[in-house]
Amino acid sequence: MKKIKKENKNKMSNVSSLKGMRDLMNEEYYSFQGFFEKAQEVAVYYGFKPIETPMLEHEEIFTTGIGEGTDIVDKEMYTLKTKGGDRLALRPEHTAPLMRAYIEHGMQTMPQPVLLYQYGPSFRHDKPQRGRYRQFWQFDADALGSDKSIMDALVIKTCVSILEEAGAENLSIDINSIGDKECRNGYIRELTNYYKKNLKDLPAVDRERLKVNPLRILDSKEEKTIAINEKAPDSVSFLCPSCKKHFKEVLEYLGEMNIEFNLNKNLVRGLSYYTRTVFEILGQKNEEEGNAPMALAGGGRYDYLGRQIGSKKDIPGVGFSIGVDRIVASPWYKKLAPRILKKPKIYFIQLGSEAKLKSLNVIEVLRKAHIPIAQSLSKDSLGSQLGIAEKLGVPYALIFGVKEALDNSVIVRDMSNRSQETVKLAKLLEYLKELK
Ligand code: AMP
Repeated sequence: MKKIKKENKNKMSNVSSLKGMRDLMNEEYYSFQGFFEKAQEVAVYYGFKPIETPMLEHEEIFTTGIGEGTDIVDKEMYTLKTKGGDRLALRPEHTAPLMRAYIEHGMQTMPQPVLLYQYGPSFRHDKPQRGRYRQFWQFDADALGSDKSIMDALVIKTCVSILEEAGAENLSIDINSIGDKECRNGYIRELTNYYKKNLKDLPAVDRERLKVNPLRILDSKEEKTIAINEKAPDSVSFLCPSCKKHFKEVLEYLGEMNIEFNLNKNLVRGLSYYTRTVFEILGQKNEEEGNAPMALAGGGRYDYLGRQIGSKKDIPGVGFSIGVDRIVASPWYKKLAPRILKKPKIYFIQLGSEAKLKSLNVIEVLRKAHIPIAQSLSKDSLGSQLGIAEKLGVPYALIFGVKEALDNSVIVRDMSNRSQETVKLAKLLEYLKELK
């Protein structure tokens, strides 16, 4: 009796995944895999190469890269201290780790720019809700090592093409320029003065932001602040001549490609490393009645990130990040099927122990010939196996019984008219090739 009690004590009381995290499986898994295949294909055509950075990094990659005063660093990072005392973080995004990899592998000595794509899970301890998870999947592409405006255009075009290939239509891009270190300080000063004038109406959370990172107030979700932001000074009016030229060129490239955009003066995005161009792609407005459109992807330029995380020189870069969970859940998503997923052409049925013994050898012949099959090797009766074949709508069944196992043959049954023919195993592939 005592022993049983002890066993129960060791059992888990809660067999469930963590809040905001889920198991990807069945149709949803295939949707993700199909999307990743398509996104990679598009990125490769534009010249991007793959990279996969680890999910765990030193915490300071993010605290210095993304910056304190951002929600991601202040509230949402999953951090841990190892037994040896290292402070690590599960990546909340992919750009800072990518920059770390560029510096670590001396990619500045390669022909520039270096175009890289990567995808995988990101982690943010956010409040789970529609389209917002604590573990979510991002697909990123970045051009590192060039400050040219055409790289901004290339990255935006790649992002739009991926979304369109996945089924999105009439995409519109919110875009802004937040300047560089020459002009941004003047803008931040002006912005700070403006908020100070409105201090009494500013909610407490935004008053705090004013002390640490006034730009963040522009994307505040507080109702009172949203009203104040309507009249806030806009960054574009403060751009220095070179930032103005850069932004004008980016917009010209977009115009030339017929990519629609809205100039959104309040767009700053939730990460501090951005300079000059920032952009966001929203879902279609009529997506779900009553729901505000969600951001499907976002990105921008981050010319100082490299130096922030340890490079001696500036490393200009620009990139985007697509929120894959939101894409595959969108009503317009095309349900891209992964290439490895094949519709079975044949249902393999075995009857009797002699046949079961040799079944895997017959299946191996079919696998090597790349003929997709379905089977239920654990079943014994003909009726139940044929029933499954019918339910699956597989056009042909192979029936492998004791007699067939003894004389190395198999019965091929046309499921549409139930006609059957016995075929020698040695001739099976040839016979199957002739079938429509
Ligand atoms: P960000 O790194 O914040 O620029 O996010 C890029 C994209 O990732 C967003 O446009 C969203 O589509 C997606 N995303 C960000 N946070 C989440 C989340 N918690 N859950 C699901 N998708 C997210």
